[in-house]
Amino acid sequence: MNADQAWTAEQIVAAETAHASGFYHKRPVVLARGKGALVWDVNGRQYIDCDTGHGVALFGHCHPAVVEAVSNQAATLLTCGESFYSEPRARLMAALAAALPEGLGRVFLCNSGTEAIEAALKIARLVTGRKQVVATKRGFHGRTMGSLSATWNPRYRGPFEPLLEGYRHVAFNSAEEAEAAITTDTAAVIVEPVQGESGVFVAEKSFLEHLRALCDERGAMLVFDEVQTGVGRTGTFVAAQGFGVTPDLLCLAKGLAGGMPIGAVAIGGRIGDLERGTHASTFGGNPMACAAAAAAVKAAVDEKLPQRAAELGERFMAKLNALAAEAHVIREVRGKGLMIGIDLRTRSAKYLQALQDRGVLALDAGPTVIRLLPPMVITWEQLETVYVALEAVLKEAA
Ligand SMILES: *Cc1c(COP(=O)(O)O)cnc(C)c1O
Repeated sequence: MNADQAWTAEQIVAAETAHASGFYHKRPVVLARGKGALVWDVNGRQYIDCDTGHGVALFGHCHPAVVEAVSNQAATLLTCGESFYSEPRARLMAALAAALPEGLGRVFLCNSGTEAIEAALKIARLVTGRKQVVATKRGFHGRTMGSLSATWNPRYRGPFEPLLEGYRHVAFNSAEEAEAAITTDTAAVIVEPVQGESGVFVAEKSFLEHLRALCDERGAMLVFDEVQTGVGRTGTFVAAQGFGVTPDLLCLAKGLAGGMPIGAVAIGGRIGDLERGTHASTFGGNPMACAAAAAAVKAAVDEKLPQRAAELGERFMAKLNALAAEAHVIREVRGKGLMIGIDLRTRSAKYLQALQDRGVLALDAGPTVIRLLPPMVITWEQLETVYVALEAVLKEAA
C-alpha cells in the first residue's frame, strides 16, 4: 500500500496551478474515479459524464473488459516495439481489419490523434509523390505542425505560422470548391465525416461521395479523420460505414483503447507496400494500449455498441429537437449517433457551468455550441437525467 496520504482537493489544485503548462482552461473539479457514464470528484460528488475527456471514455469509464485486459497485460509485458511480434497487437490488428470497411486491412499504430494524422499525410505524400493537401474550413486535425497545417482555426494556427506549404481549405460540404481545389498535384484530401471541435457539423453524404470520386479521378488519397467519430460514436463502427464511402486512409484515436492513449491509421488497398524505415513510432503498437484497444473493439462488436449509439442518439436528438421548438436560445441541434451539438444563439460557457452545477459534464465546440459526447454504455435513464438538466438550464434562459 502507498504510505502517502491522499492529497486534498486544495493540494491538487495548488500543485497543478503552480506547475502545469498553463495551456488549458481548467474547470474547478478534481475527478477521482469513474464507472460507466458516471464520474465522481474527490468530495464524492457524482456527475453524468458527457465530456468523457473529449470523447475518450467512449466505452464508459473503466469498462470491465478493458480493465481486465490492461491489468493482465501490465503484469505480463509492458513494452514491445514493432520490430518484434506480440499477441495483443496481432489481436488488435485482426479485430480492426474485421470491423473496418473492406479493404482497410493494414494498420499503422501510434499514440494520439495528431500522430495518426501526421502518419496519414506522410503516407499520402509517400505513395503519390505529391505535396499538396486539401482540407476543409472549420476542420480540426490536431496540434503538431503537419496536422495543424490541415487544421483551419486561425486561433490555433496564427502563433505558429509559417506552417507547411501547399495546404488549401475548402468550404465543408461544397462540391464546387472541392472540384476546383483537388488537382493532379493533390497528395491528400482530409476531412472529418462529422466535424467535432468546430461545432458538430455533419457532412452531406453526397459531399463525401464527391470527394471519393475526385480523389479516384485525380489520383489523390482520401483521408478520413475519424479520431472523434470512430469506433461507434456516430452509430456505425466508423462513420465511413454510415456514409457508405470508404477512404484510402482512416485515422482513429480518442476512444479506440477505452481510455488508454493510442492512435491508428487504417491503410487501404490502393496503397501499395510502404518502404521499410520511412516512418515509425517508438511507443506505437505498445502492448498495454493494444490489449486495451483489442478488448474495446471486441466489446464494441459483441455488445453491439455502435447500434446502441445510433438508437440512443436518435431518440435523444428527437427530444432535443422538440426542446428547440420551445427554448428560443437553441438555434439548431446537430449530430449523428452520440456525437451531438446544441448550437445556441449565445455563448455556451455559462450553460456548461450551469449543467455542471446540476451534475452534468458537457463540453464546448466553438463558442456557441454545447457538445455532448456521452459514452456508448450510457443508459436511457441517464440520458433522461441529462435532458432534464438541459431543459432546466436552457428554458431558464428563454
Ligand atoms: C482530438 C482530435 C484530433 C487530435 O487528437 P490528439 O490525440 O489530441 O492529438 C484530431 N482530429 C480530430 C477530429 C479530433 O477530434
